[in-house]
Amino acid sequence: MIVNANEPTARTDNPAHALLDGLTDPQREAVVTTEGPLLVLAAAGSGKTRVITRRIAYLLSLGVPAWQVLALTFTNKAAGEMRERVGELLEAHPQRESISRGLTVSTFHALCARLLRRYAPLMEGRANWRIKHDYTIYDTNDQQALMKTTLNALQLSTTNWPPRTVLGAISNAKNELKDAAAFAAEADDFYSRQIAKIYTSYDDAMRQANAVDFDDLMVLTVRLLRECDEARDEVQARWRYLMIDEYQDTNHAQFVLSTLLVGNDPGSPPNLCVVGDPDQSIYGWRGADIANILEFEQAYSGAGLITLGQNFRSTAPILAIADHLIRNNQQRKHKDLFTTRDGGEQPEAVLCRDERHEAGLVIDWLKARVEEEESLTWKDAAIFYRNNALSRVLEDELRREGVPYVIARGTAFYQREEVRDAIAYLKLVANQADEVSLLRIINKPARKIGKATIETLAETSKIRGVPMFEVLRIVDTLDLTPQAQRAVQRFTETVDGWTGHGTFFGEGVAGSLADLVSRVLKQSGLEDHYKKLAAKSEESADKLSNLQEIVSSAAEFEETYEPADDPALAPDEDDVPPLLSIMRAYLETVSLVADADSIDPASGAITLMTLHAAKGLEFPAVAIVGMEEGLLPSSRALESESGLEEERRLAFVGITRAMRRLLMTSAKYRTQRGLRERMIPSRFLDELPSEHVRVSDQSEESWDEGWDDAPAPWDEPTEASIESARRRRASRSSGSWPGIEPGARVRHPRFGLGTIAQVMSKGMNARAVVEFKDAGRKTLVLQYANLEVL
Ligand code: ATP
Ligand code: MG
Repeated sequence: MIVNANEPTARTDNPAHALLDGLTDPQREAVVTTEGPLLVLAAAGSGKTRVITRRIAYLLSLGVPAWQVLALTFTNKAAGEMRERVGELLEAHPQRESISRGLTVSTFHALCARLLRRYAPLMEGRANWRIKHDYTIYDTNDQQALMKTTLNALQLSTTNWPPRTVLGAISNAKNELKDAAAFAAEADDFYSRQIAKIYTSYDDAMRQANAVDFDDLMVLTVRLLRECDEARDEVQARWRYLMIDEYQDTNHAQFVLSTLLVGNDPGSPPNLCVVGDPDQSIYGWRGADIANILEFEQAYSGAGLITLGQNFRSTAPILAIADHLIRNNQQRKHKDLFTTRDGGEQPEAVLCRDERHEAGLVIDWLKARVEEEESLTWKDAAIFYRNNALSRVLEDELRREGVPYVIARGTAFYQREEVRDAIAYLKLVANQADEVSLLRIINKPARKIGKATIETLAETSKIRGVPMFEVLRIVDTLDLTPQAQRAVQRFTETVDGWTGHGTFFGEGVAGSLADLVSRVLKQSGLEDHYKKLAAKSEESADKLSNLQEIVSSAAEFEETYEPADDPALAPDEDDVPPLLSIMRAYLETVSLVADADSIDPASGAITLMTLHAAKGLEFPAVAIVGMEEGLLPSSRALESESGLEEERRLAFVGITRAMRRLLMTSAKYRTQRGLRERMIPSRFLDELPSEHVRVSDQSEESWDEGWDDAPAPWDEPTEASIESARRRRASRSSGSWPGIEPGARVRHPRFGLGTIAQVMSKGMNARAVVEFKDAGRKTLVLQYANLEVL
């Protein structure tokens, strides 16, 4: 059914009307249809996210209290941007500040984390509810550590039961809201029965540690809202308007959660607006259920449906190839797309020789785009790839060329060994039941708590069914050497010193979060440990500065931290010391970082990211590398038709991020896991309409021979090839690298000052051995080294 636009009752002088400016008719309709369930089904770049943002601003300016409005997005970054955008839209509103106070824009996970903290106490005492509100969130690494211990305890080998695979199976079950008992009840073969057993033990261990994984956040919140009337009533009475972006990537648990948040009473249908595009569903492997979007109208009777046809993002040739490609998927309903943007350059597809050649070519191409278009800067360009592993060669090449880049791997900082150590200490301070963290740092840095001692402690904890940290306190009753007992006691005393014996008050405890973090780093010995190592290697010096970075990040968090000012999100923490409460909030933020969160749109740098992380974003110039069979589509996806279709959607997502310029590359040879392999161009390239793509094969161009050979006659030279050839010729024709000779003093952008010891070969192959003052002896390819002769 198509709804009629529900014109608001506002008068013409209502500021809400200005918010409808610059929208197409269907977009406007989607904004003003504020009551009842509404599905906006529309293609990439047609303004779905824009509709949500306008809707929020529109609701607020109509007088809907902000605390009644909830919007759910896929990443923290998207949430932040949406909040900002709403602020801008309301700029002209006289009560801008007050009308947007209390608005919630969040990811599903962050929302669940808050609801759990707030309402978990109401569930205490219920059968099988074992999570307390001061729980810790375990990330993938913690999960794997816990899974290994679990498998160990069950005497199963990690070779036969790879933790990742087992965790994947458990995650799928959780996304379907199947708990261990339900899973066990359905298990009818050996494999599933074993998984059920592991699932049960893993859950027990998780609860023992008072921890939850990402999926638990959803599962437990669903259970909470299903079973606890008080919590559900409060939540439903509060949020009267719910909006969900990227709905095609929600899973079953999220679907159920959204119905619990707004209710689904046929008597008073919820004001739930979801927007999505089935052609962009790329999280099937993580349990996303496209049925959610297709069955929305069944689930919510009387739901409205609005489609948006016009694409505002991309030029016609880019849209044409995206459309052509996605038509190859059988499992889809076709949507027509059009753009009113005339003209536009043709997308290019280039076959390169290998990954180095590819990286050089892509960078040359992006440089040329930036040179050619005045308004274009590095930040307008992006390079996408299927797997993170493909970024290394690109990074090397970008560094060599001196091109600024940022890599969207928000989690990377928190994955580092030293950072994980530090966070483990903090997690233990916030939740002493956290066994994974305790085991990580109990003897790191070494404090004479040996393996045998740790085993005894762990064993006793298991036998008595109490958290390991409690066993530490009764170490004097265990059969251990006096030295070992003393070492353990010293450790517990140190931890107690940080927590003020759990009070978070008192001499040397009270203070800021940053103080506490810095004290923990010092008194744990971690800082000294890395300081000593830092004297020996540069890598360890980095580690030391990363530790310092944690103190800064805590300080920064503290500065911007606002304890939730609305009752439904504020944890019921009257009795919780403020320092502990802010520490928990900090750790929660750290646990919920996603890769896409790290991109700073203001930075003047090229963005590198996976195709998955690129969802929802747009860039004037885009390059997609590694369009090869086995990469995109990935080899795993080739096992099933639906897997293949998901990969095609992923390629579609990549292409539709491009606003004006698009380059796709594949390499003939690629070194993966140390093996150089012959690659086949992706079938997706074959599926593109030849009249809209400029294809060229440059794989025969050899590094040594240079670019003098004309491209093969059947290939039109593309801009990418011309540009690349021009640069290489230019460097070669400059001949013998003036000034580069033995004895010359030079400066390198990264290695600093040095003296040339030897020059080898000529032309593009020319290399020099340079004795650097600080960095030692290096052999550099002159073409890339950017050496400055002094
Ligand atoms: P995706 O499916 O990739 O998430 P989307 O449907 O959410 O895309 P938006 O990101 O909202 O699309 O919009 C795409 C681009 O088009 C944005 O730059 C947006 O500002 C612009 N845009 C959307 N609607 C209009 C409009 N009516 N007039 C001008 N520009 C528009
Ligand atoms: Mg969007």
